[in-house]
Amino acid sequence: MPGAIDSLMKSAFLSTEKLSLDQNLLVVNTGEKLVMFDSGTGRSKNLALKHFGDGTGRARKNLLASGIDPRNIDLVILTHAHPDHSWGLVDEQQRPLYPNARVAINTKEFEYWTDLSKVATVSDEHAKDQFRGAHFNLTPYRDNIVAAVDGKEVIPGVRAIASPGHSPGHMAYAIESGGDTIINLGDLAHHHILLFERPRMEFLFDYDPQQAVKSRLAMLDYVSKEGHQVLAYHFPFPGRGHVIRRGDGFAYVPTPIEL
Ligand SMILES: [Zn+2]
Repeated sequence: MPGAIDSLMKSAFLSTEKLSLDQNLLVVNTGEKLVMFDSGTGRSKNLALKHFGDGTGRARKNLLASGIDPRNIDLVILTHAHPDHSWGLVDEQQRPLYPNARVAINTKEFEYWTDLSKVATVSDEHAKDQFRGAHFNLTPYRDNIVAAVDGKEVIPGVRAIASPGHSPGHMAYAIESGGDTIINLGDLAHHHILLFERPRMEFLFDYDPQQAVKSRLAMLDYVSKEGHQVLAYHFPFPGRGHVIRRGDGFAYVPTPIEL
């Protein structure tokens, strides 16, 4: 498979030495609420620095640069509780970085990752820290959690879609406005070439790789048929585009950035 991956990367003029994944935080103003999807890796408890290096923790600075005051965020909607999605919720002292926000997450996802008894069940340090970091970031919001339930709206215009596999309670979200829909894919596909051309390929950090493949195929099939725009968290900035069928897999057509 490494040979196949190399040739796929080369075919897209991408490096075969290093694979870069962006982190696209989507902010939606519904007219009534300011909603942010996922929180980035953050710098909480120095876990992010330990595992992801010094380039982490830019979400707050980038929000302010975009004219968005983190205190005005009403709701942070999480696709799942992996480090790069949930570790940006609090600062080093465990103070909420979004003090006026509630946090929407699937209940199974919240319970799985905040259960510290699971630390002893995994062997490597990165896996142990996934539980510690999720607990550290999510529990300060414990009284302000909104349950993301499959097929139900989290708030008007934002509907949760169960898409488990990468994580036990991974959710995608359909954001609907004025007859248009954009689907936030979360981590249903980490790479716009590898996992679109080879959607049946399993990803290292999948909780249940076979289920992750099923969820990915079902969603990519759906959005390619419906023609919905997607937001993919790890695709090249800003991660918005369309999905079309190509051969045995799919192709990603990025939406041009409007300047
Ligand atoms: Zn991710």
